[in-house]
Amino acid sequence: MSNRHGLPLLAQREDELSKCAYCPKLSRATCIVSEAEPREALTPWGKMTSAFEATKSGADPERAELAWGCSNCFHCREACDHRNEVAPTLNDARADYVALELAPPRVAALLERTEAIEAEHVAAAERLEQTPGVRSDARQALLLGCRYAKVFPDEARAAIRLAVALSGPVRLLRGCCGAWQRAAGAAEAANAAQRRLAAELGEKGRLLVLDPRCALELSELRPLTLVELAARHPERFEPPSSRPEPVRYHDSCALGRGLGIYEPPRRLLARVTGSAPLELVTSRERARCSGAGGILPVSMPDISRAAAARLTDEHQALGGGALVTSCASSLSRLRGAGVAAVDLIALLESRLGAHG
Ligand code: SF4
Repeated sequence: MSNRHGLPLLAQREDELSKCAYCPKLSRATCIVSEAEPREALTPWGKMTSAFEATKSGADPERAELAWGCSNCFHCREACDHRNEVAPTLNDARADYVALELAPPRVAALLERTEAIEAEHVAAAERLEQTPGVRSDARQALLLGCRYAKVFPDEARAAIRLAVALSGPVRLLRGCCGAWQRAAGAAEAANAAQRRLAAELGEKGRLLVLDPRCALELSELRPLTLVELAARHPERFEPPSSRPEPVRYHDSCALGRGLGIYEPPRRLLARVTGSAPLELVTSRERARCSGAGGILPVSMPDISRAAAARLTDEHQALGGGALVTSCASSLSRLRGAGVAAVDLIALLESRLGAHG
């Protein structure tokens, strides 16, 4: 199905678009983007209404730009009586706009680098293949996630060690889940990346995944996140011998609202630190987004930084200290904002017991 304005994916989102367009709530209070830049057009209502109007009267660069004002955090869905899928709808809008060559210049520049970015990811995964426990003939496969492999190799190695300790040798997948391409508006490239990854995975063996954003994107392949794997073996993690400083926990959007995993990380942190983790002002379904997802740092960098600053200020006002999170994008954004952000899996790996 298409429509006369050349927006085939949006034409299939009539239900989601009209739910927002005819809703008086705006969902303004839920959105980190319209919080950072208080414009009605940037509320979930505004972005969805703009896309709805594009299906009626055509797209233009101004309407197109609004679709990239979303971090794919799913917060507005939690506040919506219909649980309306705003983020996937805006991703479809992005794909339609890219096809019409209406992507904002920053996004277009990113997409032009797709091949080079994918090659960098493969090279980063290859460098990690020397980690003990990685075997090319292993039945189970581990996908680290591009950003972990490229930007956080220490955390990536810790994740490999944890996976090997808890469930035996792994082979590393070199492919990409396609999440960043989908968020950029390159739906075909995202689907192609997923097909290549599925072929690399093959028929047998299970798929372990470090970055929850990748696990969310690959839900059809029934992945097991390393958080879930760790939660199956709590006895493998040692309680502290002394009383360490408590840590605060940040629900990343993909692990929390995306995959619905809220309590297992808290239980694991309680085990390895000796006390329940501290909480931010809002948590679980209402957790604050770090502004790192949905390629927001590329499409709207100032808004992304402002979102990270809000989260940072909240954490510091509560006393600061270590802030544990579980996705590479949040880790990047929070460390960039000066927070002592700690990766959940790397922390757990450091507390594996002697039999680990
Ligand atoms: S998913 Fe998050 S960033 Fe996107 S519109 Fe909803 S609240 Fe805003």
